[in-house]
Amino acid sequence: MIIQDPYFKVRTIAATENPYSVTWTPAHGDYSEGFIGDEWDDGVWPDEKKGWRLIDKQLLHSLRPHSGPLEHAHITIAVGGFPHDVAMQHRTHRIATFDVQSQRYTGERVIKCVNGNENIESVFYFRPVGKYHDREGNHFEYTEQARENDKLFTKQAAIRYVDNINSGMPPEQARHYLTQNIRQNYTFTCNIRSLLHFFNMRVAKDAQLEIQTLCEYIYKEFYQWVPELAQQYRDKYWGKSPLTF
Ligand SMILES: Cc1cc2nc3c(=O)[nH]c(=O)nc-3n(C[C@H](O)[C@H](O)[C@H](O)COP(=O)(O)OP(=O)(O)OC[C@H]3O[C@@H](n4cnc5c(N)ncnc54)[C@H](O)[C@@H]3O)c2cc1C
Repeated sequence: MIIQDPYFKVRTIAATENPYSVTWTPAHGDYSEGFIGDEWDDGVWPDEKKGWRLIDKQLLHSLRPHSGPLEHAHITIAVGGFPHDVAMQHRTHRIATFDVQSQRYTGERVIKCVNGNENIESVFYFRPVGKYHDREGNHFEYTEQARENDKLFTKQAAIRYVDNINSGMPPEQARHYLTQNIRQNYTFTCNIRSLLHFFNMRVAKDAQLEIQTLCEYIYKEFYQWVPELAQQYRDKYWGKSPLTF
């Protein structure tokens, strides 16, 4: 199940050009007598079609892929609007580099929300109304009324935040009393292998719906970058939590 939320955003900031050539040629170097740089000087590379053909044939040929070369090409992705807990879940993965909005220097939007100059839903996340279940399969219905009550509760905490700031409390302390559904923007950089590992862990059905949703957003960026590899991963491994990458 994918969560529909108008404030979720994911955008590629940068990605290795010629990712297949950058992945394949180091692997080729493993068993080449010559210097791999010469092949780049001689114009053999980059050749993305050939690179993908060789990766597919030589690296991804089994359930135990030759994964090391998948660590050479990198992508940098900006994530926006997901709740704080998703940022924290993502950050448990030590195989990516993160820069996360501090909430120490970014309280202006909370103040605007309290003053009525910002829609509360653009600053804080509320799951859409609907039927959900927990990891044990217990069902729960999130009603319009419950959602409205949660918005009121969140607003109260935001008002308290502003009162605290106005009374001189340092923002690093005032943020303690904000609710965890605050949206938090961040950027991460990782390689192909680490992205596949992230999907392995977080597309799983017992992962939180919001991070499963994030995986779908990131997958679109991944597909734009390396479509053949992304499609093959999707067909073979998506949602199966394999620990092969
Ligand atoms: C559904 C779900 C629920 C979770 N719930 C919780 C929770 O309640 N609380 C919580 O704290 N975390 C929780 N986690 C996080 C989880 O425990 C992992 O810390 C997180 O998913 C990072 O994944 P990883 O261990 O594969 O490591 P990554 O950092 O993604 O690294 C990838 C791989 O590199 C290797 N590796 C990296 N660093 C080391 C190291 N230091 N030593 C040895 N090998 C290493 C491992 O093989 C690892 O699998 C949850 C994860 C999931 C998917």
